[in-house]
Amino acid sequence: MTEVFKGSFTQQEPIPEDAIEAAVAVMRHGRLHRYNVSPGEIAETALLEREFAEFTGARYCLAVASGGYAMATALRASGVRPGDKVLSNAFTLAPVPGAIASIGAVPVLVEVTEALVIDIADLERKIRSSGGKVLLLSHMRGHICDMDRLMALCDAAGVKVIEDCAHTMGAAWNGVASGRSGLAGCYSTQTYKHMNSGEGGFLVTDDPDLAARAVILSGSYMLYSAHPAAPGLEVFERVKYETPNVSGRMDNLRAAILRPQLRRLPEQVAAWNARYRAVEGGLRGTPGLQTIDRPEAESIVGSSIQFLLPGWDAGRVQEVVARCRARGVELKWFGAAEPVAFTSKYDSWRYFESAPMPQTDRVMAGLLDMRLPLTFSIADCELISRIIRAEVGAVFQSRKAAE
Ligand SMILES: *Cc1c(COP(=O)(O)O)cnc(C)c1O
Repeated sequence: MTEVFKGSFTQQEPIPEDAIEAAVAVMRHGRLHRYNVSPGEIAETALLEREFAEFTGARYCLAVASGGYAMATALRASGVRPGDKVLSNAFTLAPVPGAIASIGAVPVLVEVTEALVIDIADLERKIRSSGGKVLLLSHMRGHICDMDRLMALCDAAGVKVIEDCAHTMGAAWNGVASGRSGLAGCYSTQTYKHMNSGEGGFLVTDDPDLAARAVILSGSYMLYSAHPAAPGLEVFERVKYETPNVSGRMDNLRAAILRPQLRRLPEQVAAWNARYRAVEGGLRGTPGLQTIDRPEAESIVGSSIQFLLPGWDAGRVQEVVARCRARGVELKWFGAAEPVAFTSKYDSWRYFESAPMPQTDRVMAGLLDMRLPLTFSIADCELISRIIRAEVGAVFQSRKAAE
């Protein structure tokens, strides 16, 4: 009998009951705007900022409307000006170059390796050739590069690092929380990330000037004293006249939904990783398929899994995708010529000019990606890996026979 998987790859868990209750309480009192508080009240958004700062170990935290907004704000608050070059990895999702472009800056893309992380040797070349002074480092699909090497290179070259942690909330490198090696870390709480408020994001930093500028940029008017996870008022005095208001605040309803989720995040991380390891174990050793080894220093959040079909031609990769889809398993291919849904490739971002990325092209031509929502059981994950293993095997055999 041919096994078929019936689950949905886009179905996240429901919002937990205590989070629903907290949201209903906010709706009952009606003070959804973060600066709308009764005497002595601290807004849900402000409490969430304090808790997320504590979770990451950052001095300052700002809750905002999206992960993309957090990145654009971090770049702008760190002094990036229109026309400036901002380095970033070629393997990422559209909001990353989009954040750079949104402030009029120009992306300079850097190759990725087969481990799906930024190629540090290419980064060194691109720093030299472009003169870029800021790196927006995307920990795409949760893969963290050697942060010790990367920070040594960037510190020596005077390059500021802003981390895109949309896929690494709760992850770490050598015990350092993702988002805490660079000047600022940016996170998303959009439905498909590690906490779900529909839309939302965070910016964390230890830099007081950056934090104060970010608060004002986010649309604080002059109510910045209502930010318990922001620097002292004297820092705002330095920047308040020269920083525009570009509204992108989080509201109390989203914050109320997120606070209980943050308390539960470590458990969720463990649940994701159990699923990730079940699929990884099931795929390992499949002829023609390469799993991605995760370094010892990396603590992962396995909310998605990637594998390579190295050297496969496009037709055969598409055949694997089609055969898996017919059995209920949704794989996303990063080698497609045209952008599809959330998946796009650097050569589809034509609002800036990029040098050719031959190494990234080669990696992405064989790169398949799969979400692992927590609505899947471990048995589901085992079934999914059996299906992938069988279909990759079937196509691989027919390729060998044709050779
Ligand atoms: C989702 C995502 C973001 C930011 O997402 P928003 O939808 O703006 O919250 C940033 N980087 C990557 C890699 C993402 O997947």
